[in-house]
Amino acid sequence: KAKKMGKNCYYFYNDQFKEALNRQNMLRTMLISAMNNQEFLLYYQPQYEIPTRRLRGFEALLRWNNPAFGLILPVEFIKIAEETKQIIPLGKWVIKNACEVCKMINDKYGLNLIVSVNISLVQLQEKDFFDTIMETVKHSGIKPSNLELDIKENVIMENFDYMVSVLKKLKKAGIRIALDDFGLSNLSLSQLKRLPLDMVKLDKELLNYIEYPNSQGALTDSIIDLIHHLDIEMLAEGVENKEQVDYLLKGNCDNIQGFFFAEPVAREKIEEIIEKGVSENEAQSRMIQKIG
Ligand code: C2E
Ligand code: MG
Ligand code: MG
Repeated sequence: KAKKMGKNCYYFYNDQFKEALNRQNMLRTMLISAMNNQEFLLYYQPQYEIPTRRLRGFEALLRWNNPAFGLILPVEFIKIAEETKQIIPLGKWVIKNACEVCKMINDKYGLNLIVSVNISLVQLQEKDFFDTIMETVKHSGIKPSNLELDIKENVIMENFDYMVSVLKKLKKAGIRIALDDFGLSNLSLSQLKRLPLDMVKLDKELLNYIEYPNSQGALTDSIIDLIHHLDIEMLAEGVENKEQVDYLLKGNCDNIQGFFFAEPVAREKIEEIIEKGVSENEAQSRMIQKIG
């Protein structure tokens, strides 16, 4: 009997596994025509400045509105897009759209908001990456300092000297550079110092430590201190609850982003967020409502 159950379990597991593989394969095939069919869209998640309680900008987050499966998150398709190099045209589309939306909103409401765009290794390795960015910024009409590029540590580690040179060039042109998902880092202190960073985004993993204030909480504090000593701004990501907010307010955290304040929203909703209470005052009162 047990044997039979074991066998059933095996089949059950196997079926699930097959199904997942099947979905991956289908997505891989469907991705080829997805751009032409205009199935991609960007969601935007608000970021707030802690000291002023103001809206700082938005992070652009890619979504795939798949005709068979509905809305799909990046975790399921970015890797495929990287493997097939489709991330290059797709990434260009993302940067272009994010810059245009940023321009539209800043003009319409007289704001100076930043848009953060995630960049993958395959994009950064392209010889014309710098030119593409600068052309897109120029064409959209935003200031270079309105665009922030989110780069993950593993991307930088891939070819450190080369990445430093590309990022330096971008920073010199006024583009903002952010180190995304910064946690218990593999970067050495000297590498961190060599990177031309404007911003470090603390991974939400680090926020887990602060729930144990007498033990590892100190670890998160020291990391924030270290970043400030290097004269880099920081943002806490994935902030979900009041305890985390209270902790971050007591410390020296500069910016904050997470479901506690707002989830990523579709493009049309950005204007709703801003229009609801007239530009920055609304964002400010939202923050004050939430955290005082
Ligand atoms: P990321 O850049 O670190 O983006 C933050 C992720 O955390 C987003 O997931 C966001 O929806 C999620 N998030 C925000 N607030 C909270 C919170 O309070 N709690 C939790 N649990 N999660 C929160 P998303 O949109 O699924 O994106 C995942 C990752 O996919 C991004 O991580 C980024 O690395 C990548 N990605 C997204 N858009 C693009 C893109 O256009 N190009 C590339 N290359 N990668 C992208
Ligand atoms: Mg990011
Ligand atoms: Mg992140």
